[in-house]
Amino acid sequence: MVVIFTGITTILTLRRFIRGEIENSQLAQFNNFLNACSDALYLGDNLAIQAASESLEKAIPELAYAVFVDDSRNGIQLGGIESVQRIKRLRPVCPERDRKGQLPLKFDASSGDSSWRHFCLPIQEVNLRGERVSGTVHLGFNLNMVNSKVDGFIERIWPHLLGGMLVALVLGLFMAFIIAKKITRPIAQLTEGAKAIGEGHWETRIPVESSDELGFLAHEFNLMSTKLKELDDLKDDFVSSVSHELRSPLSAISGYAELLRMKPLEEMAPEKREKALVIIQESTERLSHFINDILDLAKIKSGQIEVTRKPFSIKATVEEVVRLFQPLIEKKNIQCFVDISEAIPMIQADGEKIRQVITNLISNALKFTPSQGKIRIIAKNQTDSIHVLVEDSGVGIPEDQQEIVFEKFRQVKGQAAALVSQKGTGLGLAIAKGNIEAHGGKIWIESDIGKGTKVHFTLPMTGVEQWPKNES
Ligand code: ATP
Ligand code: MG
Repeated sequence: MVVIFTGITTILTLRRFIRGEIENSQLAQFNNFLNACSDALYLGDNLAIQAASESLEKAIPELAYAVFVDDSRNGIQLGGIESVQRIKRLRPVCPERDRKGQLPLKFDASSGDSSWRHFCLPIQEVNLRGERVSGTVHLGFNLNMVNSKVDGFIERIWPHLLGGMLVALVLGLFMAFIIAKKITRPIAQLTEGAKAIGEGHWETRIPVESSDELGFLAHEFNLMSTKLKELDDLKDDFVSSVSHELRSPLSAISGYAELLRMKPLEEMAPEKREKALVIIQESTERLSHFINDILDLAKIKSGQIEVTRKPFSIKATVEEVVRLFQPLIEKKNIQCFVDISEAIPMIQADGEKIRQVITNLISNALKFTPSQGKIRIIAKNQTDSIHVLVEDSGVGIPEDQQEIVFEKFRQVKGQAAALVSQKGTGLGLAIAKGNIEAHGGKIWIESDIGKGTKVHFTLPMTGVEQWPKNES
């Protein structure tokens, strides 16, 4: 289509251009003849007009006539024989002069036949002898001949143009084919890749061959499948952790419940019965604790965590949590120091969530600190936040794991088994991080293996209120 359109436009433009050129040259010839007539009138040399007319007849085949009509001598027509005969036959009429006395240079012959182009201009001269002579210069062209000349020219150009168009067509098709191949191949690869990933082949990768938009798309596609693979692994980990966490307390409950049913209760040794009931109760608590953690984590992940800010005292909360852990502290013979500045104001925070954080940090410190160890809980005022530190002299966390223990189900391998009777699920720090960040704070770990761990968190003081409020 483009080639055909270009061909037709070229021909039309060429035709218009050639016609324009011919019209310009006709005007130039009229001017020449006009000058020749003026000179001849001045010299009184009629033969010169005739000679000029004849030479034009010979030189320009499409010339119809070149004639001077002498008004001063009753309309005698001067020019070549053919010119004089033709002007007699065609009898062109000069148009009326306009208001300024000028004549237009172009008008139709009197026959109204559009196949003629006629130029006409009256002139006046004073000849050598001082006589005033006047007349009209006429020049006419046969436009049919001009047209067939243009057509002939175009006909000669056609085969060359057609050849060029054909070459352009073949080249264009060839290039289009190559470009289409270049575009469709990666698209086909992307389609294949998407299909493979849809079928669960996460390892699928698409070769990135170009640096254009398609290459970028392939690159993004590969990133997406890596991410999907990670998510799939995470899902597997999650499912295995969850099923383990659910299965072990459930089997404990079911085992001990069965034991209790085997014999009448009175026949069972009281300590055995007590032990079974304690295990059933602990397992139930563990299950409900785990389910709550999972629900909290789901809320944190989906960004639905709601922070209900109320006046909250960090000092009171820490002291209360420490009191709850007192039996364990005493059992492990751990020295526990609480150092909280009196100057710490009440802040606006979700007391339940911060309490959950402090409980997990203290529980971790106790879990991972051997007997006779030390625990310190320090809270201080900073310019725009409160800084809390839970420090222990326990086993420590390797440097490369200090970030990842904040991810769900992440636990430092080997360490828990060596130390602790009470195992966790690896959710506490993930929930703590979610809670602290929901308050606009930060949480981080500093730790030296074998020396101890410091877990810091900050809570911004936005919304700090003087509490109790001045009742006045
Ligand atoms: P949960 O808190 O869900 O009952 P958890 O205590 O194992 O289980 P997190 O509180 O998230 O889980 O802690 C993740 C891991 O980080 C722990 O299992 C432990 O390996 C390591 N960790 C956390 N706190 C300490 C600490 N004070 N000292 C040494 N290791 C720690
Ligand atoms: Mg914990």
